[in-house]
Amino acid sequence: MRVLAYLDNNATTRLADEALAAMLPYLTDEFLNPSSAAGEIFGMRDVFAEAKAALARLFGSRDLAPGFNFTSGASESNSWAVHCALGRTSGGHAVATAIEHPSLLAALEARGRAGTEVALVPSGADGRIDPDRFGAAVRPDTAFVSIMAANNETGVIQPVAAVAERVRKAAPRAVVHVDATQAVGRVPLDLRTEWAEVDLVSLSAHKFHGPKGVGALFARPDVVLAPLIHGSGEDAVRGGTPNPAGAAGMGSAADLALRNLPSMAEVAMLRDRLETLLAEAVPATIVNGRSAPRLPNTSSVTIPGKDGPALVEALASRGICVATGAACTSGSPKPSRTLLAMGLDHDGARSTIRVSLSRATTLTEVELAAGEIARLVSSVA
Ligand code: PMP
Repeated sequence: MRVLAYLDNNATTRLADEALAAMLPYLTDEFLNPSSAAGEIFGMRDVFAEAKAALARLFGSRDLAPGFNFTSGASESNSWAVHCALGRTSGGHAVATAIEHPSLLAALEARGRAGTEVALVPSGADGRIDPDRFGAAVRPDTAFVSIMAANNETGVIQPVAAVAERVRKAAPRAVVHVDATQAVGRVPLDLRTEWAEVDLVSLSAHKFHGPKGVGALFARPDVVLAPLIHGSGEDAVRGGTPNPAGAAGMGSAADLALRNLPSMAEVAMLRDRLETLLAEAVPATIVNGRSAPRLPNTSSVTIPGKDGPALVEALASRGICVATGAACTSGSPKPSRTLLAMGLDHDGARSTIRVSLSRATTLTEVELAAGEIARLVSSVA
């Protein structure tokens, strides 16, 4: 496989060289089980503390470090959040946005089958959730709410702080969960100030140049995390042999993400350049969520009358990686819920591709992709 332009960074990012270097010792000489006596004697557990400290810095303060719990990624973090907040009751009430990641929505659906009443709040046409509308769905007995920091398909940044504030007023005891998976490393995040009312946060290392299969669920000290995976693992909250290479890779990637946040302004310029080139070549192009605040790296583009999946396939055969609505649902015949919620019809949703950049993206990649898209649009039905 030869990739000439990689513009699918919301699906996954390339592992940073530094993260790989941080992982290698734990995959070779330092292979001890961190929970074993030998592992403890050789100080294997330090890697987890260091990774937590790096994540804490990325979220605004080293003091937050003990709140981070390792997981296999954001799907597990989302499931854990839902089952932790709602798991022990047979009923209860939960509110989430209708545009959450499928892993969160599926966990809520499972709770729904167990008797939880779930309200899903749709977005506006610009892809953004209205805090008042969200607040109106919250009841005094609401036990759990979830809002994503930024949408994986459109990159639209959601008003987390305003939503959390409304929730606190309407349901002071509700657990407030944020799926920050697509926002980490792309926009500044602060759990001390802006997100002071947020209780739980999901993230995944492979979205910010860390390894796949490792992530975290942050929990405030007053949120009791019942295990989702039973056993005797890291701090006994998650069963299973801990993953030192994953933790080291995620910690290194978190440090890099913090250091590289300023370079996101350049990523936004490249993204804007791509949108300009596409608009010049195909004037009918619509950029979804353009009027809302967006992640610097994401562009959701509808090309009316063109088949998105066919376009994505044709581009892939030329070494250009982009996605349809969401990589996680590609292959699914169902149109994107996020795009339908924004008022697109089925044809519009099917005519949409997602282009997502990273700090590694070059102007050459952007120009190549824009040129190929323009060329193919004149030939793909
Ligand atoms: N939440 C969001 C917003 C995502 O974009 C993704 C990945 N597509 C996930 C959760 C799931 O992440 P993971 O691949 O680590 O399970």
